[in-house]
Amino acid sequence: MPIDPTLPYDDHNVFAKILRGEIPNRTVYEDEWALAFHDINPQAPTHVLVIPKGPYVSWDDFSAGASAEEIAGFVRAVGHVARSLGLVEPGYRLLANIGQHGHQEVPHLHVHLFGGKPLGPMLARFD
Ligand code: 5GP
Repeated sequence: MPIDPTLPYDDHNVFAKILRGEIPNRTVYEDEWALAFHDINPQAPTHVLVIPKGPYVSWDDFSAGASAEEIAGFVRAVGHVARSLGLVEPGYRLLANIGQHGHQEVPHLHVHLFGGKPLGPMLARFD
């Protein structure tokens, strides 16, 4: 079920538990600002999630409320992960789902990083 993006941050969401080490994950990268780990249900040969360490529900509150250091650290971590996985050439896709229409299911900001094969058109046709 998509989340309600207007709700406050829920400390019991699955990615908060992963950050606290209460749920195992297959870590790809970690630094002061971000954690990257393999998606449990991969949609491409490479499907990694990158999450900020701070308590942000989505791209919406992160972009509005995070500090410049948090934003820079997170964005740099996403780029670092893609480079370290060898995805820059031939390319990859980033995706962030936000709220109901974005079909966001986990209420902690995450960027999906897909790669490892030609990924096709961005979205299915809407008509
Ligand atoms: P969303 O629809 O919110 O953008 O995507 C949530 C993603 O989190 C899904 O791709 C789902 O497979 C992944 N996910 C959900 N629970 C877990 C978990 O416990 N561990 C990992 N590694 N990924 C998870």
